[in-house]
Amino acid sequence: MNQPRGIYDSERACLPRPVRRERTRVLSLQLRQLLDAGLELLFPSRCAGCQRVDTVWCPECQCLLDAIPFPARQVHALDPFTALACSGEHRGLLRQALLALKYENAAQLAGPLGNRLADLVASLQWETDFLVPVPLHPSRERERGYNQTRLLGQVLARKLWIPLADDALYRTENTRAQVGLTRRQRLQNVSDAFVVNPGRVQGCDLLLVDDVYTTGATLGECARALLATGARSVFGLTLTSAVSPANHGGGTPEWM
Ligand SMILES: [Zn+2]
Repeated sequence: MNQPRGIYDSERACLPRPVRRERTRVLSLQLRQLLDAGLELLFPSRCAGCQRVDTVWCPECQCLLDAIPFPARQVHALDPFTALACSGEHRGLLRQALLALKYENAAQLAGPLGNRLADLVASLQWETDFLVPVPLHPSRERERGYNQTRLLGQVLARKLWIPLADDALYRTENTRAQVGLTRRQRLQNVSDAFVVNPGRVQGCDLLLVDDVYTTGATLGECARALLATGARSVFGLTLTSAVSPANHGGGTPEWM
């Protein structure tokens, strides 16, 4: 039997605020799931590596990813880092997976890519107190819905049992995207873009994580800010490196 409308409304109005809030949350979650299911029917997921339908990352591409060796050479003591490493060149399957994670809403790819980073760090035997992901500006993170570097960091932190210090480093300047800028422009673009929480980093050895190393401008600026605020050492880690002698200001081509 239908509930008389007036009674139902007055009953709902009497519900405690937390219960009403929880109802609204559950309803919006269900609506979101319904929308996702509809979108999945209209636009099925495709593997970021081979475009196979119905998955964002297939077992075959995982095997191919596992077969990509880590770079034979790792840089040590490249100022301001105690050590710096990347898990591979910014090309092929690794690049495709990273771009899908970053620009195509394929957050699930943080799993396999984060596992790859964890294997690399384990092989390097770095000893650090905290893991610090390079932050996005809050407005850019809202736009994307997540920070891909933090997602990678969360997988790394779980695998390596290192705490993730999400409140150590903040991006206060909404800098323009670094793509297409020269090394000098990139350095200017990120200059003073980060603020450090001193209580979080003083005397600590930090593992600073970013997705891609291009000229090192962003990673270097973060490391300098962390060290200037009292961090004891900063180890830099990226998933890929697009560095070349030409765009590294004449420096050594680190891992290529
Ligand atoms: Zn695939």
